Amino acid sequence: MAWFLNSSKPDWLTPDWLSEILGSDLAARLSVRSHPRARRVSLRVDSQAGVIVLVRPRRASEKFIAAFVAEKKSWIAKHAAQLDALPGETSVADGMTISLFGEAVTVRHAGQSRAGVWREGDILYVSGRAEHLARRVRDWLKAEARRELTQIAREFAAVIERKVARVGVRDTRSRWGSCNAKGEISLSWRLILAPADVARYVVAHEVSHLKHLDHSPAFWRTVAELCPGRENARAWLKRNGAALHRVVV
Ligand SMILES: [Zn+2]
Repeated sequence: MAWFLNSSKPDWLTPDWLSEILGSDLAARLSVRSHPRARRVSLRVDSQAGVIVLVRPRRASEKFIAAFVAEKKSWIAKHAAQLDALPGETSVADGMTISLFGEAVTVRHAGQSRAGVWREGDILYVSGRAEHLARRVRDWLKAEARRELTQIAREFAAVIERKVARVGVRDTRSRWGSCNAKGEISLSWRLILAPADVARYVVAHEVSHLKHLDHSPAFWRTVAELCPGRENARAWLKRNGAALHRVVV
């Protein structure tokens, strides 16, 4: 079920010209997606992912989009500010919508009809007693994060001809990922709550350490080869990282 990998093309890359128009902070809030059937350039707010989505028809020129963005700058700034006004801690509960790799999914208590936790489209069904719902969602999220992040790590490692010994998930606050000399990668399971491209960047970073155990220019070249656009991912994590930790499950 590699549902989020479908959106793995680096459409969140904020081109330099966008930073020139909006400034890098605001440009980092914009997720540019090209759409084959889009007829015009449009903007919408994705409050789950915490980004403003700009949909561009595939054939629209950069010059045209640049003019559009320049015209909408104050709209973008206003909505980015609204996205920043995040609520305090939220517990996972029946009816709550959570963002999984950028896709909105609603938690639904399913009673005793079927055992376990399962996803059908944009619904995450959770069976069993209501008081166990949050724990069951957490266990599912962790397992799902580990499965998907492991898959990405293996893909990236194959590109640079290295082997990942193991991918583990933790709930670390100090960092999103780490990699040791034995080739063991540890990642925060909360990356599942970030957009797919941000999670991919963190994995690319740790996988690149399989080749370079430092942060040398050669290391950053490997990261860029696997997943370009690190500034945007870093900016996103800086801005929204705390919010991922505010989801209490
Ligand atoms: Zn590093």
